[in-house]
Amino acid sequence: MTATPQRRDPRIVIVGAGMAGIAVAHVLKQSGFNDFTILEKGSDVGGVWHWNRYPGLRCDVPSYGYQFAFAPKPDWKHVWATGDEIQRYHRDLVDTLNLDGYRYYHSTRGELLNRLSRTDEAKAAYAKALELTESEPERQFLLQRLR
Ligand SMILES: Cc1cc2nc3c(=O)[nH]c(=O)nc-3n(C[C@H](O)[C@H](O)[C@H](O)COP(=O)(O)OP(=O)(O)OC[C@H]3O[C@@H](n4cnc5c(N)ncnc54)[C@H](O)[C@@H]3O)c2cc1C
Repeated sequence: MTATPQRRDPRIVIVGAGMAGIAVAHVLKQSGFNDFTILEKGSDVGGVWHWNRYPGLRCDVPSYGYQFAFAPKPDWKHVWATGDEIQRYHRDLVDTLNLDGYRYYHSTRGELLNRLSRTDEAKAAYAKALELTESEPERQFLLQRLR
């Protein structure tokens, strides 16, 4: 007898709203997955292009080679785009792809852990990790999360 495929509704966490996070979110949406959250510790999207602001920051490959194939931008201002323009490209993309509603910003690792550790899934994962760990500091950390 052939097993009937079961529809899954997974909960997926993407850590970081840099280029990789945006691309993964886009592919997930395209594939019909909507139950995901993007956790970003910064105050905006773009990853390194959000964090780095030093004068003269630019792409070191031509801009058209640094954009997503699924989101071509024909009007880069420079052949080697500035960091600011690249970050704006990412921000606009998140708006265009309607990814904003999936994001959750947090400012500290503690805040993230607190949020994650409240879920039953997190507790089960901590318990499993506790069974497997051989490191005493890690064991103490996990015990704390489980209290
Ligand atoms: C100054 C600079 C210039 C660069 N220039 C180029 C270039 O010209 N061409 C090129 O190909 N590559 C360049 N790179 C490499 C660049 O890192 C990659 O091209 C690309 O931006 C990496 O994207 P990413 O999403 O993988 O990582 P990132 O851009 O680093 O994004 C990761 C995101 O995850 C978030 N994050 C991390 N940990 C956590 C956590 N625990 N919880 C929540 N959020 C978290 C971060 O805040 C960040 O927003 C450059 C890198 C730097 C630093």
